[in-house]
Amino acid sequence: MAEDTSVRYRNAILYDESGQKHIGDVLLHQDGAWSESKGDEDVQQDIDGSGRLITRSLQNWHTHLAMQLNARDFSDGYPLHRWLNEAIFPTEARLNPEYVRIGAQAAAAEMIRTGSSFAADMYFYPAVTGKVLSNAGLRGLVGGPVSDAALPSHPDAVSALDELDTLLKNQKTEDKIQYAIATHSIYLCSEETLRRASELAEKRNARLHIHVSETRKEISDCHERTGLYPVEYLDNIDFFKPGTICAHASWVKKNEIRILAEHQATAVHCPSSNMKLACGGTMSFPAHAEAGVDIRIGTDGSASSGSGLDMLAEARLASLVQRHDHWDPSLLPATETFTMASKGSSDWAVWNLNDIRMRPLGRSGNRHLANLVFNGAECLDMWVDGQAVRLNGQTQTLDEALAWNELDLAVETYYEGVE
Ligand SMILES: [Zn+2]
Repeated sequence: MAEDTSVRYRNAILYDESGQKHIGDVLLHQDGAWSESKGDEDVQQDIDGSGRLITRSLQNWHTHLAMQLNARDFSDGYPLHRWLNEAIFPTEARLNPEYVRIGAQAAAAEMIRTGSSFAADMYFYPAVTGKVLSNAGLRGLVGGPVSDAALPSHPDAVSALDELDTLLKNQKTEDKIQYAIATHSIYLCSEETLRRASELAEKRNARLHIHVSETRKEISDCHERTGLYPVEYLDNIDFFKPGTICAHASWVKKNEIRILAEHQATAVHCPSSNMKLACGGTMSFPAHAEAGVDIRIGTDGSASSGSGLDMLAEARLASLVQRHDHWDPSLLPATETFTMASKGSSDWAVWNLNDIRMRPLGRSGNRHLANLVFNGAECLDMWVDGQAVRLNGQTQTLDEALAWNELDLAVETYYEGVE
């Protein structure tokens, strides 16, 4: 790869981060910016952009990447707490760094194929996942899990926090892989563990990542135990730090949404996971948006996701479920949905306009983002930090066939004896 050089797409259609369309010859710069091309600049690649649609890449804000090890129908039909306790946790007891490497590698392959350049992850052996993402040329906010339940990777929460302290201390702000502190949930973390994690986040200026108010059981158990609902409880123990990532935020009251906004939390809408596990409710987009909460979209791990790691599919569900829940077809039009699914990206995904799902383009030729969000399309190219992670429909930074073969072999031993 040539360093510090741009890529030119000729005769391209580019949608910028605000959903504005630009047509012509464009340069994509290594720093994430773009500009119009005069046609004679030195570039590392000069690509015929006709038949291609350039957008910001997708950003997946809640994943458990190595759960690619759990087949997609793994214990399908279980409600969340039975699924965790009877299927996921007993299987994860045999987890080791090599399994995580193989699961995360397969996940990276799927992310690249579907146009995502970033994941906010929560899983065991974060340094392993960080290395896999880095080798694949992707970005990550890799959260090491902290919980008081038995961890396959650590004897207790304190040693998990100590490992994270080391990872956080050694990272540089410009690294594409940043680490985070992933306290699993209020039902797997004691108050003391949550407080310790929050103190570490403050000390290292790191982000927290937690599942919050995913099910009615979680909120009723919390209320019975503490007299408070989960977000109130977390506020009461001084847990929140700016940028805390709250996955799900489904069963929250208006005052809890205000608390999330006050603490500049990020709430992650995971509609397919909520629907697949029949949680009976998902995030209220209008209520969070009105309160000014930063809202992102996440697929969750591929065992509970109904979209795999495909963020276009998840974005589609986000728009549909909000319209359905609120009886409002004007909610989350395609441009707003795509903007939310790619928010913060400084990378580029390039989609195949000759994919049948992208047609027709409409009489005014303005149906690109609507077709992309509601139908999907093949990702041809992806550029991260000036590097072609995918080019002409081929992933460049990892061997896809090897990734899937290693995964198939690994699962033969990984969930032996588990339904
Ligand atoms: Zn999750």
